[in-house]
Amino acid sequence: MIQAADINKVATRLANTKFLLVLTGAGISHESGIPTFRGNDGLWQNYRAEELATPWAFERDPVTVWQWYDWRRGIIGKAKPNPGHHAIKELEDIFENFLLITQNVDGLHGRTGNAKMVEIHGNLWRVRCVREGKTSMLMEVPLPSIPPRCECGEILRPDVVWFGESLPTQALEQAFRALEMCDTLMVVGTSGVVYPVASFPETVKNNGGFVIEINTEATPISNIADVSLFGKSGDILPEVVRALRTQ
Ligand SMILES: [Zn+2]
Repeated sequence: MIQAADINKVATRLANTKFLLVLTGAGISHESGIPTFRGNDGLWQNYRAEELATPWAFERDPVTVWQWYDWRRGIIGKAKPNPGHHAIKELEDIFENFLLITQNVDGLHGRTGNAKMVEIHGNLWRVRCVREGKTSMLMEVPLPSIPPRCECGEILRPDVVWFGESLPTQALEQAFRALEMCDTLMVVGTSGVVYPVASFPETVKNNGGFVIEINTEATPISNIADVSLFGKSGDILPEVVRALRTQ
């Protein structure tokens, strides 16, 4: 049951928004059938994600880490963007000033054509040479050889942010710039408790902005959000776009 009054409130706010910042997390991918790969959801051959997604694990045993990513890429490669992803692409088209910040590494947003986007945790379809640092896309599933190698002969790693690693500086700067400029923040499918996004709702509120939350259940953001819409983003976001278009 979608809350019509709240949808209209969101649409009215969006109609008066100059810069829309959208933040997405695992929830929107989950609606496309992608597990979170955390906790029990991430179990693979009795390894937990926290044991494999680290620079130390990769240094010790790149083959096992890559076999795990190969498995994940197999699952993700079969998934498709859902109506929530497509609605966010529509929002990008509607707003002149727009940025999507996603914590997801599955690349589903990019597949809708979203271009004004920062993947702050990287993208597991992109690889990076551990020697040269140069990146390229590697879409093959399953990989023809593990670990994949750069033309320079060195091992390639997934271009994602692992536990214990810092976020890419450029992506962070872009995210924080947008955070200061936006007047509306829309949080989708994330409880937003992880750095750096944990501070986003409060920053926007302190700057006089408006915070919209779309999650399946209440989160710490619910306490600060101006409107919380509870349900699947794939149900709610298309409604929001429809209401905005008829404003
Ligand atoms: Zn190389």
